[in-house]
Amino acid sequence: MTRQRKAYISLGSNLGDRKDYIQKALNSIKNLSGTNLLNISEIYETKPLADADQPKYLNAVAQIDTELPPEILLGELQKIEDTLGRQRTGKWQSRNIDLDILLYGDEIVNIESLTIPHPQMHLRLFVLKGLCELNPVIEHPILKVTASGLACRLNGQDFTLNPNVPQLISIAGVIGVGKTTLAKKLNEQLKSELILEPYDTNPFLPQVYAGNKQLALPCQLFFLLHRTEQLNRKKYKPQQVIFSDYVFEKELLYAQMFLNSENLELYNSIYPDCLESIIKPSLVIYLNDKTQSCLERIHKRNRPYEQKIDIAFLNYLEGEYESMFKSWTQCPIIRISKSEFDCNNDKDLEYLINQIKAYIIS
Ligand code: ATP
Ligand code: CA
Ligand code: CA
Repeated sequence: MTRQRKAYISLGSNLGDRKDYIQKALNSIKNLSGTNLLNISEIYETKPLADADQPKYLNAVAQIDTELPPEILLGELQKIEDTLGRQRTGKWQSRNIDLDILLYGDEIVNIESLTIPHPQMHLRLFVLKGLCELNPVIEHPILKVTASGLACRLNGQDFTLNPNVPQLISIAGVIGVGKTTLAKKLNEQLKSELILEPYDTNPFLPQVYAGNKQLALPCQLFFLLHRTEQLNRKKYKPQQVIFSDYVFEKELLYAQMFLNSENLELYNSIYPDCLESIIKPSLVIYLNDKTQSCLERIHKRNRPYEQKIDIAFLNYLEGEYESMFKSWTQCPIIRISKSEFDCNNDKDLEYLINQIKAYIIS
């Protein structure tokens, strides 16, 4: 007896009677030999990924079990597309029906005509939402993360891999959480460029930490201009892999904490131009730890001016990071908790590198 495998199919349509095409495709899938249609997600309306001028899509995910081997299943799905009149005008062009295999049991398939898991499924919220409805704990067989875990990383957005930009991975988190150490470790493993925040080059910082409020503005401007220069778009090539041990946008968090309203207004008048001129992250890695542990690390590394930092400040900063990332839309975020991750452990590091590779072109 042939073995039944559970598989997940994504359905999409943005031409003609979209709902009807999806319905007809589902009927045809139901009639495939050795195949049962087990469940269907809701139908979602989604913006086109590539070209905003295209009509919107309807998308859904179907759960099947099937005796058909993956390549045969793909052939059958393509026959259904053809029967429904799919014009093959090219990747990501408008189409009346698109049927992709997302998952096939826990198999990994990598042949010319077929890649399973679908290579961009973890970047597509419309796919993950459907999968979560059908089986939120199903694991991506390469990433070893559940559908709901993958969906959380997207924060309500769809993403694509973009070959036309540098592939920046920014590590974020409060002071003392271990961003620099992690950035250096990752950089050793992946052929990449490393951008680190120097911690002792801001001439205004020691006095600001000592309580001199007059210097708060030059201090914040120094940081802003320095980071703007470090991440200047003109310095980097498309597809170049880069790690930074900070996210640029935290500059604004600090400015909001340290500047009075007049100074903040001035700061805000130049911030958007700075933001405009820099490379954007393809991925953020947000490191979390107990703020008490961060404080202990700060004491241990003993940078003189940092010794003024107290737990209340770290807690406040953590809250600011949390709210920034709650509404973050530029790229996926991988959250790493230090209690479950040790960057000196080869296995942990390898796991993270595997995750990273799925979100960038490397
Ligand atoms: P995307 O794959 O990014 O969703 P698309 O669906 O627009 O893009 P198509 O033009 O429909 O791409 O298909 C291009 C080729 O992708 C197909 O001929 C097929 O051989 C191949 N392919 C590779 N992996 C899969 C998969 N898991 N499911 C469906 N087709 C796949
Ligand atoms: Ca597709
Ligand atoms: Ca397709």
